[in-house]
Amino acid sequence: MSELPPCDIAIVGAGIAGSALALALSGHGLRIVVIEAQGEDRAVLPNAVALGAFDPRVVALNPRSRSVLENLGVWRAVADYRLCAYRHMTVWDADGTGSVDFDSADIGAAALGYIVENRALVRALLDGLRACADVRLLAPESLVECVRDTQGRVTLTLASGAQLQAGLVVAADGALSRVRELLDFRTREWDYGHHALVATVQVERPHAATAWQRFLPTGPLAFLPLPGTDDAHYCSIVWSLESSLVEGLQALDDSEFCVRLEHAFEGRLGRVLACSQRYAFPLRQRHAVDYVQPGAALVADAAHTLHPLAGQGINLGLQDVAVLAEEVLRAAERGEALGSMDVLRRYQRRRKGENLAMMAAMDGFKRLFEQPGLPLRWLRNAGLRGVDRAGPLKRHLMRQAMGLAPGE
Ligand SMILES: Cc1cc2nc3c(=O)[nH]c(=O)nc-3n(C[C@H](O)[C@H](O)[C@H](O)COP(=O)(O)OP(=O)(O)OC[C@H]3O[C@@H](n4cnc5c(N)ncnc54)[C@H](O)[C@@H]3O)c2cc1C
Repeated sequence: MSELPPCDIAIVGAGIAGSALALALSGHGLRIVVIEAQGEDRAVLPNAVALGAFDPRVVALNPRSRSVLENLGVWRAVADYRLCAYRHMTVWDADGTGSVDFDSADIGAAALGYIVENRALVRALLDGLRACADVRLLAPESLVECVRDTQGRVTLTLASGAQLQAGLVVAADGALSRVRELLDFRTREWDYGHHALVATVQVERPHAATAWQRFLPTGPLAFLPLPGTDDAHYCSIVWSLESSLVEGLQALDDSEFCVRLEHAFEGRLGRVLACSQRYAFPLRQRHAVDYVQPGAALVADAAHTLHPLAGQGINLGLQDVAVLAEEVLRAAERGEALGSMDVLRRYQRRRKGENLAMMAAMDGFKRLFEQPGLPLRWLRNAGLRGVDRAGPLKRHLMRQAMGLAPGE
């Protein structure tokens, strides 16, 4: 069994959260190791603007996440590759007449957010890491064992058999975090009974830089705008459905699926002309009871997963990353042990409240829009119309979704 040199921080997972954290910590005299199960080829970027050339996994990043990525020096690379800024958002209820339209001009902003392909973001972050002499990326390599001694130092065992000691291990290994499981972090979780079907589609009419969301009784359907050409218009869809319905949709051939999708979307962008391969993700709300233990911290999906209906998952995750980096660097400056509970509790205190509030809001939304009864149907349609007419409330909701502090 080979021994790797000890490090100050071991980050497990180089998805968006893990690679962003390594970049944020780099340049301050810490020895950082990142362990990632997948090889480099997962983030190869095709140049073509064509149906099959988009990553079917995209994220809607809010302006606050953009700032985090600008501070890390990677936003330019993400934007230079491609993204789609959206200036409008239209949300409506399938079961009535209520709808609400948000426009970035109402609050004097250039965009409400940006649709970015996951692999483009990961590529830019990994390219950034390559220039960091203090970060050692082990990939492809997996964590298989994680043990903490009485002083809080953690020993990691990797799939190759190598072992590594770290002052702090950060779990950025996603929703099914192995670190979380190995260190016995407790979670509260429940199944939404939903799957999210994701795909890229070509539509007949331009998407007008708008993120569209229709609430169906079976769950929300989002059409998110992607870059296109003069005569080819693309969207990424996230169709959240009761799990029992997903199998039926997956069994349809592409043209049958396009017809079904167009119908579910009320043909707002004309015909759905073509769709890429479809992928289904089970949706589960999960929240770690504690984000920290001596020598260990959870960030992003390893700490919390929520329904994608408002596209907030990695927006919250990037805030976890920014705050944890701030607390760790402050501790390093003061000579505190990075894995001490004094340091880690400060991170937990600053992040848990916002994450919990967002999870509760998403859960409430989902339940409200699922109810078939007439009174609730009336209430939500009246609510949507009311929000649409109430300027200050609408602007407040926009600022919240954009991650802006009041007054910003
Ligand atoms: C359908 C859908 C739509 C979404 N839309 C949005 C959106 O619009 N906006 C938004 O903000 N969020 C959205 N999200 C959520 C967002 O995708 C996640 O929050 C984000 O991808 C989580 O990033 P992460 O880095 O925490 O985890 P992941 O992306 O899961 O990365 C974890 C990494 O850890 C690695 N790993 C795992 N186990 C090990 C191990 N044992 N050893 C080494 N490496 C390991 C994996 O290979 C992976 O690279 C959506 C989610 C879904 C399902």
